[in-house]
Amino acid sequence: MWIDTHGHLDAVEFETDRAAVHLRARAAGVTTCVIPAVEAANFDTVRLLAHAQHDVYALGIHPLYTPQATEADLAQLDAALHAHQDDPRLVAVGEIGLDGFVPELNTPEALAKQQQFYKAQLKLAQQHQLPVILHVRRSADLLLKALRDTPVMGGIAHAFNGSVQQAQAFIALGFKLGFGGALTYDRALQLRRLATELPLSAIVLETDAPDIPPHWLYTTAEQRAAGQPQGRNEPAELPRIGHVLAELRGIPLEELAVATSANARQALPRLQ
Ligand SMILES: [Zn+2]
Repeated sequence: MWIDTHGHLDAVEFETDRAAVHLRARAAGVTTCVIPAVEAANFDTVRLLAHAQHDVYALGIHPLYTPQATEADLAQLDAALHAHQDDPRLVAVGEIGLDGFVPELNTPEALAKQQQFYKAQLKLAQQHQLPVILHVRRSADLLLKALRDTPVMGGIAHAFNGSVQQAQAFIALGFKLGFGGALTYDRALQLRRLATELPLSAIVLETDAPDIPPHWLYTTAEQRAAGQPQGRNEPAELPRIGHVLAELRGIPLEELAVATSANARQALPRLQ
């Protein structure tokens, strides 16, 4: 039915009701969730969780975690990719990439470290013949440049919000583009246009749970000031997000579900 191609289900936000979140996902028709790692310290957690829930996982060091990451973490990633190379639930190297938004990560030194880890992990993906799951935030051109130097077998540009030209460049390199809760907002005109006009074959769906709540879960600054917590996103929201995209594209929901699931299996061949 549906594949959530990006959910941080190991996050503390799910600590108290992870089993219920999982059951709600299955009840909503979300058959599989891709759980990406963010640092060496959660490699085992995401792997064990994926096995326990019959989901799949990716191993990698997220750009936001590069300030504290070390060479030993890269060695640990290489070792884990070796150790679990025959694990059918290990589907990608991720979440890796570059973040061009967070100021502390964009001093010359911090950006150099982001680049060092991104490029080293592209090499590991190449060596281990795995696709990659990319964090793209104001970084599409830099990501693409490194991909041209170190080609990998494609993957997913997650939470994509770039230009049509950048989207086409990722597609040309074998990537699918991940769309989620951000496109449920009426004011997200550019993103909605992109998600509507790109070929359906280029699109995968994701929640990025617990983040990027769709508009029906979003609480305003005022509501939060009054004590209401920010809405927590979860995989069970994926079909409703899909419903918004199907309406935007003017296609039946079923067609969107079938196509985006097939696209996810193409981007992450071990999902087959
Ligand atoms: Zn993520």
